[in-house]
Amino acid sequence: MDYYENVIDLIGRTPLVRLGATVGHAPAMVLAKVEYFNPGGSVKDRIAVRMVDDAEAAGRIGPGGTIVEPTSGNTGVGLALVAQRRGYKCIFVCPDKVSEDKRNVLKAYGAEVVVCPTAVAPEDPDSYYSVSNRLVEEIDGAWKPDQYSNPANPRSHYETTGPELWEQTEGRITHFVAGIGTGGTISGTGRYLKEISDGRVRVIGVDPEGSVYSGGSGRPYLVEGVGEDFWPSTYDREICDEIIAVSDQDSFEFTRRLAREEGLLVGGSCGMAVVGALRVAERAGPDDVVVVLLPDSGRGYMSKIFDDHWMMSYGFLPPAEGTTVGDVIR
Ligand code: PMP
Repeated sequence: MDYYENVIDLIGRTPLVRLGATVGHAPAMVLAKVEYFNPGGSVKDRIAVRMVDDAEAAGRIGPGGTIVEPTSGNTGVGLALVAQRRGYKCIFVCPDKVSEDKRNVLKAYGAEVVVCPTAVAPEDPDSYYSVSNRLVEEIDGAWKPDQYSNPANPRSHYETTGPELWEQTEGRITHFVAGIGTGGTISGTGRYLKEISDGRVRVIGVDPEGSVYSGGSGRPYLVEGVGEDFWPSTYDREICDEIIAVSDQDSFEFTRRLAREEGLLVGGSCGMAVVGALRVAERAGPDDVVVVLLPDSGRGYMSKIFDDHWMMSYGFLPPAEGTTVGDVIR
């Protein structure tokens, strides 16, 4: 019989898919590492299982333990599914701007979700940072993974994503392109690929315009999961040979094109990464192999990027015939 004993065993070993129409006539081959094939639907399953493994080995979590993390997104889903299989409780703390759909996904895995007001400073006792810290102190056997400082985050990519790409491309990868959020993906994967190729593989970070990684001030942008207004310790500031800044407009246009032209329904940070990969591929040679990592699925963005009205309300699509921007916003 051919089966897996446990859903956790399905994490990693995601496929590479060649991009066609969206890449146009760029000379280099562009391959996408499609991370929505992970059981929780994103690249973050990789770090979730490694952070929990590490904490168990170090005795920081054990039977009856509780995972507490301020997250509402992909890391939460990864932690929730690993916690369910390992018998831990999960409490996620998130700001009230997070959609009910996202909160319900976490609850569906059996996690508890604590909602805090968005409009307060991080040091306010009601902020989601303060509340999650308080819960860790108050709950017996609680552990906070903290994906922004946990070395298991980049290490999981050094040990899995990097070797997978080297094997899948038979060592022919010449450029690795990925968005930067915590920086775990690019730092761990990038370091492995540079080491194994004696520095031949180029590592290119992609960042939303306005974020600190590409020299911005931390001003707001709409693409989710990437960019920061601070420098997390999980990001290796030496790893990128180049960082490309991409606008929300370009990120979302390419996200929609990936669904319509490649049959890949992926999230906004994927569109952003592909814009970066395309810029790299256009100036690369015919023997170059550019790999771009696509972190998650488009299912979580149906009422945003894939909704024409939402796109029009931000000016990312022209208003429909017979409507004004005012109509759209209402
Ligand atoms: N895209 C999405 C949708 C994400 O959730 C994340 C993780 N924050 C990233 C990209 C960036 O990955 P990393 O944190 O490893 O830099």
